[in-house]
Amino acid sequence: MGVLNEKPLLILGGGLMGLAIAHELAQRGKRVEVLSRSRSEAAGFVAAGMLAPHAEGLQGDLLNLGQSSLQRHPTWIKSIETNSKMSCGLKTCGIVVPFESHQDCESYPTYKFGKKLKRNELLKEVPGISEKWKLGLLFKQDGQIDNRRLLMRALEKACVELGVHFQEGVEVIEIIKDLHKFNGVKIKDINGNINHLKSDEAVLCCGAWSKQIFKTLPIFPVKGQMLSIQGPKQILKRIIFGPGIYLVPRDDGLIIVGATSEREAGFQKGLTPKGQRELQKGIQSLMPELNQLPHMERWWGFRPCTPDEGPLLGMSSINGLWLATGHHRNGVLLAAITAELIGKSICSTPLSNEECSLLSQFRWDRFKKHSQNDFEVE
Ligand SMILES: Cc1cc2nc3c(=O)[nH]c(=O)nc-3n(C[C@H](O)[C@H](O)[C@H](O)COP(=O)(O)OP(=O)(O)OC[C@H]3O[C@@H](n4cnc5c(N)ncnc54)[C@H](O)[C@@H]3O)c2cc1C
Repeated sequence: MGVLNEKPLLILGGGLMGLAIAHELAQRGKRVEVLSRSRSEAAGFVAAGMLAPHAEGLQGDLLNLGQSSLQRHPTWIKSIETNSKMSCGLKTCGIVVPFESHQDCESYPTYKFGKKLKRNELLKEVPGISEKWKLGLLFKQDGQIDNRRLLMRALEKACVELGVHFQEGVEVIEIIKDLHKFNGVKIKDINGNINHLKSDEAVLCCGAWSKQIFKTLPIFPVKGQMLSIQGPKQILKRIIFGPGIYLVPRDDGLIIVGATSEREAGFQKGLTPKGQRELQKGIQSLMPELNQLPHMERWWGFRPCTPDEGPLLGMSSINGLWLATGHHRNGVLLAAITAELIGKSICSTPLSNEECSLLSQFRWDRFKKHSQNDFEVE
């Protein structure tokens, strides 16, 4: 009964982080309301779904965060699958990173976590890989999730099953604070009506658009274009992660090809001939025979990036307003740990020493320390 009278905690943005945190909080018994401008623009529906802290060559604190999240994925996904009664397509399929020289291979930041493959072993793992790749690193522990077709929908369903309330087509246009205390948001609905929604607590999960409502956050968009091709089942068993191009095989033979990384594009929507040519050239450089297969879809989206490419996690400068944004190209990987860290913090569940340390590395005010930074963080 007490719960019903309580003002709901607001989730600003119903993309991947918004849904993951809403799900986590609802499981912990919190009353949650998701304010979502447009589900279809979420990068959660765009991503390739790689779980690739090692193949991406992450380093330092971001590698630790990624590895901790990777470990949590099986349990996290199980909870979503149980609550939604849907599958999410989690697969520890392993990722192969090909190299042209021993020097490139041995200087890869995550070299020590992989298995070195000679040319004949590389060919065995990836039949048809182009001749220019002389060796490879196999990261067996990395994998994928079918975020676009399964995970996002399963998360939405799990949230609904747990009683999360959604307002779709609602834009947060202002954060309201009383001195430094969060006091709610101003929202605009699809008919243009503006209302003040009061609440003491919210989580900002607006992805690449986060800066539009919290002007001093150091977040900017990095556009990515993708395409998919249809092959026969099992045409590839591993993901291949080449420089600037990757191929992610799903169980039914669909291969996701990604992705451009366009910082200069800002929020410019749409596909471009240059971006699509880049993907085509990338396929040619990895596995030329795949260019014979039929193309299925082409799409694009915006990664939420920060100056050090790590996320912003934890309480903001406004008391009661939490941050879970800036996950750049690793949001699918980092969703499990983000939901757990933010969920536990909000519910005052004790964090382990490791969790405290991870959270402290990704606070928003780490950017305050660098005066040469482009951003002035409040
Ligand atoms: C091309 C591409 C490939 C990627 N591949 C991978 C990958 O293989 N592996 C991986 O781990 N990650 C990958 N990512 C990254 C991952 O998709 C993102 O890091 C992640 O989706 C970010 O989640 P988010 O919830 O912060 O943002 P989003 O999923 O973008 O959601 C933000 C939501 O906020 C809403 N919103 C914005 N402003 C407002 C407002 N004012 N009011 C209300 N709602 C608002 C938007 O409508 C949107 O629905 C990829 C991203 C891209 C673009």
